[in-house]
Amino acid sequence: MSQASCSSQDGSSKHTCLCGLAANYFTAYTPANAGRRFYKCPRPDVDSCGYFDWVDPILPDRAVNVICKLKSQVDALKFERQKLKEKIVSLEGIDAVNRERDMLKQKVKELEATNQVDRSKVVKLEDDVSKMKVVIVISLFLFACIFSLPV
Ligand SMILES: [Zn+2]
Repeated sequence: MSQASCSSQDGSSKHTCLCGLAANYFTAYTPANAGRRFYKCPRPDVDSCGYFDWVDPILPDRAVNVICKLKSQVDALKFERQKLKEKIVSLEGIDAVNRERDMLKQKVKELEATNQVDRSKVVKLEDDVSKMKVVIVISLFLFACIFSLPV
């Protein structure tokens, strides 16, 4: 049924279709019946018993036009809201990337600082090794002198 595609489901009711099921309750938004509520068999159209019952009488043209205009405005606002939600998700993604970049920059700075500390330790250790080499050479020289002295 073409009206179903242009209708909003408003829930179930105590109306029973010919299948014995609680009929679904809709509001039509087709140009001819905008704003009219109706009950319909809850089964898909192929399996439906065909139960269909209008709740409201045919509305005046002015009311139908106003309802159609308001419905299209609501649809446009829903579309705009969805686009804004997608934009927010996109911006949150960019924000997350920026936060990740900032965190990585901070880690690089920390690693550079640690590397600088390590370099100064290496320089100090190299200096200590050089001093130890001198001490060893002098010790060997003195040792050789002591043992080469005639007794
Ligand atoms: Zn039915």
